Amino acid sequence: MRPSRTKPASSAAHPKSSPQKDEFLYRTHKVALDPTPEMECLLTRTADYARAAYNWGLKSYMDDKKAGQEPTMIALRRKWNAIKGSEFAWGKHLAQSTAHYAFDALGHAIQAGDNPRLQNTAARYHSKTWHTAFRIGDKVERVRCHDQRVQLPGIGGVRMCEPLRLSGSLQKVTIKREAGRWFACLTVKLTQEKRPDRPGRTSIGVDVGIRNMLVCSDGTVYEQYPNAKAEQRAKHQERKIKRYNKQLAEQVLGSARHERTVLKIQKARYRIQRARDDSQHKAATEVVDKAGAIGIETPDILGMTQGSGQRSPGQISGAAMSAMLYKLAYRCEAAGIKLTRADRYFPSSQLCSNCGRRQKMPMRKKEYRCPCGLVLCRDVNAAVNLKPPASTAA
Ligand SMILES: [Zn+2]
Repeated sequence: MRPSRTKPASSAAHPKSSPQKDEFLYRTHKVALDPTPEMECLLTRTADYARAAYNWGLKSYMDDKKAGQEPTMIALRRKWNAIKGSEFAWGKHLAQSTAHYAFDALGHAIQAGDNPRLQNTAARYHSKTWHTAFRIGDKVERVRCHDQRVQLPGIGGVRMCEPLRLSGSLQKVTIKREAGRWFACLTVKLTQEKRPDRPGRTSIGVDVGIRNMLVCSDGTVYEQYPNAKAEQRAKHQERKIKRYNKQLAEQVLGSARHERTVLKIQKARYRIQRARDDSQHKAATEVVDKAGAIGIETPDILGMTQGSGQRSPGQISGAAMSAMLYKLAYRCEAAGIKLTRADRYFPSSQLCSNCGRRQKMPMRKKEYRCPCGLVLCRDVNAAVNLKPPASTAA
């Protein structure tokens, strides 16, 4: 039996964004591409090849499992290399690194399948309708970027809609199609500069929530959508998605009509996500600019979706709490601010921020009232509990 490993509570950070490795920073710039029709064809074929490798790997894995074997990723890769020339001959001229990365992704997804916390990233077959993305480029098949053009192996130089904003060595390139457009996500390694001290800045606790996107311990509340107009627009898009989904159910899979409806859904989702990302980026920048140290929680999304049933899973994932915390975390790293993460089970909303008494706080309670006399908005109270000690502020 394998010895059980206990993870420290504070290790939830993205490995590349952990503050210990502060020599380098990894930053990604997502750029829209402007491919010619021929290149678009090649991009689609490359995505098909990566998807074929992933789905073939998953099927072989499942078959081996059924036969009572414990297949390893290395064995699967060897099998793929042996059969790809005959069964997937159409991919011979495409970049082979895409298949290599598809197996990497499959390995992670299979591992995630064993962990109940990562079930939503567990291995599932990639569908042609919804999944058009691939990672490309390695030491042999190099990706280069110059003059608003990205040179992709097996595809050629694709024009970018804007030049790469970051200067440094290219580490990772992912190409994807979203809402009918092609994008390149270019991750660059940057050397971190020594940040000047930020005297006079206080430490801030941040509570990330569903009703309010971000609440600071100093009482600042960032609502999910900064203005009523944006929120109205998101609701409008959600209504549209509902309608399109009904249409989709009645259409023939693979028909032109079906494809058009899929594109409409993707566009509506894209608009919602852009609006949310925009407000999250703005709020995160504002908080990091005024803080000397930041304390955040580690949300128990699994517990929230499966637990008390007070919120629907859709509402929780819609608030994209983890995405918000991630944006805060990498901004802290770039600004050289210390980030403290509370334990996943730290009851930040149940404790009184004045006397430390603990009480149940159902979702309907908007205010924290304590016998010691404290009356505070529940989210502000939670944020104060998450505030790191003043000595940690830079
Ligand atoms: Zn109290």
